[in-house]
Amino acid sequence: MATLGNPTNTIAILQKYDFNFQKKFGQNFLIDSNILEHIIDAAEITKDDCVLEIGPGIGTMTQYLCENAREVVAVEIDKKLIPILENDTLAAYDNITIINEDILKVDINQIVQEKNAGKPIKVVANLPYYITTPIIMGLFESHVPLDSITIMVQKEVADRMQVGPGTKDYGALSLAVQYYAKPKVMLTVPAGCFMPRPNVDSAVIKLTRYQNPPVKASDEHFMFEIIRASFNQRRKTLVNGLGNASNLKVTKEEVTKALEQMGLPATIRGEALTLVQFAQLSDLLR
Ligand code: SAM
Repeated sequence: MATLGNPTNTIAILQKYDFNFQKKFGQNFLIDSNILEHIIDAAEITKDDCVLEIGPGIGTMTQYLCENAREVVAVEIDKKLIPILENDTLAAYDNITIINEDILKVDINQIVQEKNAGKPIKVVANLPYYITTPIIMGLFESHVPLDSITIMVQKEVADRMQVGPGTKDYGALSLAVQYYAKPKVMLTVPAGCFMPRPNVDSAVIKLTRYQNPPVKASDEHFMFEIIRASFNQRRKTLVNGLGNASNLKVTKEEVTKALEQMGLPATIRGEALTLVQFAQLSDLLR
């Protein structure tokens, strides 16, 4: 079994299987063992852990996970990669389950039941960037038992996840992530650490799941509708943005009154509100 995480062995496997990268699947494989070790350290993987890996590719990070975790489940959409994983790069491990499926269609709660008796798992992934947000939101909103999610994402997206009000990157993703988890950027990763090189720089971010959300909204779903509507038309005031959103059924007068009760001006925009304030606003409008 070749140890991956370097250009030579990666190229050898790709040539052996005559593998062509699929752009539509966001395939950029890691070729730097230092970065891989950093990711395993950041995720704090131990022999007690059951880990879900999204998109193992040719199994580069999976090898590190299998060495360090008790149990690994890897979900890969590209069927051409399955024989490489099963017959070659992961053949030596007996603690791996490979699932050939789209992660957005997999019942992750069932995997957690089967492989970890319903106890929280860790998610580790070098994500396909084209579906970063749906993957993260799917994990949180389906209430999968989770300790943490340690993921490689586009650097700009990592920044968006951890900023607060008043910055240009602040938006619905920041608020959603910060409602469910404590985000921390662990390292930035230059494009040269991947094959092929992506057009953007990347970062590893760790999202440590809260036991209980840091704010209490009486209707979580409604709060997120308010948040989405507030950032859909970012340059508009909240009064106009929310008052014009057809799905919310709130009037401009109601928004003005709620803001007044919170001691905020009617000219304020969503980008100035904290998560606590969004929870208050949604409770008042409800
Ligand atoms: N983990 C490998 C590494 O670090 O070298 C590969 C990472 S690559 C950025 C993303 C991987 O996710 C690819 O193997 C791709 O085929 C897979 N992928 C893309 N979309 C997927 C989906 N919807 N479900 C599961 N895997 C997916």
